[in-house]
Order: sequence, then structure tokens, then C-alpha cells
Amino acid sequence: MACDGINILDKHVCLRYDLSVKEPKTLQEALGYFADKERAFQFAVELRWPDGKVTCPRCGSEKNSFIKNYHRWFCYPCNRQFTLKVGTIFEDSALGMDKWMAAFWMICNAKNGISSWELHRSIGVTQKTAWFMLHRIREALKDNSSFKFGGSDGGPVESDETFVGPNPQKMHKNRRVKAQAERGKMRRGFVHTDKTVVFGVLDRNLRQVRAQVIPDVKRETLQNAVLNQVARGSRVYTDNFVGYDRLKCDQLIHEVVNHAREYVRGQVHTQGIDNFWSLLKRTLRGTYVAVEPFHLDRYLDEQMFRYNNRATRDNPLNDADRFVLAMSQVLGKRLTYAQLTGKEVDALHHETAGTGEAEPF
Ligand SMILES: [Zn+2]
Repeated sequence: MACDGINILDKHVCLRYDLSVKEPKTLQEALGYFADKERAFQFAVELRWPDGKVTCPRCGSEKNSFIKNYHRWFCYPCNRQFTLKVGTIFEDSALGMDKWMAAFWMICNAKNGISSWELHRSIGVTQKTAWFMLHRIREALKDNSSFKFGGSDGGPVESDETFVGPNPQKMHKNRRVKAQAERGKMRRGFVHTDKTVVFGVLDRNLRQVRAQVIPDVKRETLQNAVLNQVARGSRVYTDNFVGYDRLKCDQLIHEVVNHAREYVRGQVHTQGIDNFWSLLKRTLRGTYVAVEPFHLDRYLDEQMFRYNNRATRDNPLNDADRFVLAMSQVLGKRLTYAQLTGKEVDALHHETAGTGEAEPF
């Protein structure tokens, strides 16, 4: 393969395999690049089968023939056809890879995310289809790694929680003071039902964040969340919230910064994770405006992907790198419209059932 460019995850895939054109670096170039359906398709094939051996997603056999006009393969052992999309987040999608790739590029690289309306206008699909696409892409962006933060060579780990809820517009004045007062109230047990609690940890050495929705800020909930993400023996920094009191002191080295007095005490602070919260909130408020708690975890996956794959001195990733990385995560992931909307009933195939909403594509 004529490729000496991007080489992520030891997958020898890059955007430069087609040497007749320049590798895209900007959104505009990417849109032009993937507007060529054939090129987008070829690129996706290389990404899925980097060694060039096209195998059947059902039986794994290499005995197949390519049906060029339909962009399909015929598997001889199965006696059935398969497409590039089978077994990926694209399965069942009638959209071309050109549109999918443009959408991937946009969501991976837009600092504050991209709304379904923006995507709808940019690539010419309906807003509803764009909304479904964005959620499927978030499914691909999800990081499934399960190793714990901190540990003998890692850390320290900052741990904190934040509250996400509607009507942020009302917070323009003295936002910080009000937010803190609200948080204080939440923490004292006056739980507002319109707020969702998000818990997060940041490993300072890895410069990676993990965040998730948790049901409440009870001590047990918070401390279990910390232990699920942080290895025994690690150093953990939190603020002085009572929920972190006596944080598993037999298992972790816990240090506290008292926010009533100071925000930083030497190395002890939570400013890294605070920074992630402000990025998250800028995205949620600026781009997505109102996010249902039900979907919040997906927005967290999206924000984590961009944050954890941002360019740093040690790891100078660019827009094309993030795109290739995201595209390489589509295998083995599925998200159906029913799962997404919570309508598990077989509404999609029975127009009279459910709410009558048809699958966008
Ligand atoms: Zn087969």
C-alpha cells in the first residue's frame, strides 16, 4: 500500500492511499475528499480489512467475490451477500460512506460538538437522520477500555462530580456563585430532579478522563465510583465534599483541597477535571442546548473521545488522525433506533405500533 502517513494502532491505514489527491487536513478538504463515493468506499474497505483480505462477517471465510456495481460481496460458504457495513455501527444504514465519513470528521474535530441541525445542513440529510447518525457515531467513539487509573506508575488521579441540567441560560449572572450554591444544596441532599449527576476521574500522567452518569451523590455511590475507576494504592485528589470523607483510606491515598479556603494546594487540586467539566458544559449549552439525561452518557463519550485524543506534546494528533482512530472503532458496535429511543417494542416494523415514528433510514 502506498502509505507512509497516519499509522495509528498499528493499522496501516491512512488517507493518503489515494496518491492522486492531497490528504485532507481541514473540514472543507475532508468534505471534498469524501464527496467521491468510490474513494470513500475504498477507504472504508481498507480500514475494515487492512491486510486486504476481505472476510465474511458471518462465517469468516475469505471465499467470496466482489460485486462491483453494488459494492457487495458474495460469500460462497454462506451463499449470501454481505456489505461493508454488516457488523458495524453502519449496519442497516442506507446512507453512503461519503456522508458517514463527513459526519465522522465533523464530530471528531468540532471542539464544541456538532448539532443535528448543523449536520443536516452540511451533508444534506434530514435533521432526524442526522440526529440518529450522531448517536451512532457516539457509540463508535465510546472507549471500552477497562484498566484502572492511577496504580503504581500512574496517577495522581483527580476525582470530582458535577451537575448537568436544563435552563442554563438563567445562569448568566453570577453564574459561578449560583452554581456553587446549587451544588451545595444538591450535596446537602436537596436533590433537584431536573439535574443529572456526572462523576469523573482524571489521570494526570495519562492525561485521560473518564466520566459517567451516577444516580446520586451519596457517599457510597461516590466512593464505589472512585474504586471502580482507580487502582488500589493510588493517590486521589478531591475537594472537601463530605461524600469523599474517609475515602477508602485503607485502599487509596486520599488528599483533599478545601474549596472554602483555597483551590490549589501544591499538587493537590482538581483543576484538570474542572477544566473537562467546563468543556463539557460549553458543548452541552452551546451546541446541544437540551440533552435528555437518558442520552447524557453518549455526549460524555463524545466529549471524552475529543479530550482523550487531543493534541499534546507527546502525542501530536491532528484532525485526520482523530478521524481515522474513530473510524477504526466502528466494528462490533451496534445501536438501533429502538435502543436509542427506548422503544424496544418492535415498532419499527409495524407502523401501527409504537408512536408511528419510522426509522429515519
Ligand atoms: Zn460467509
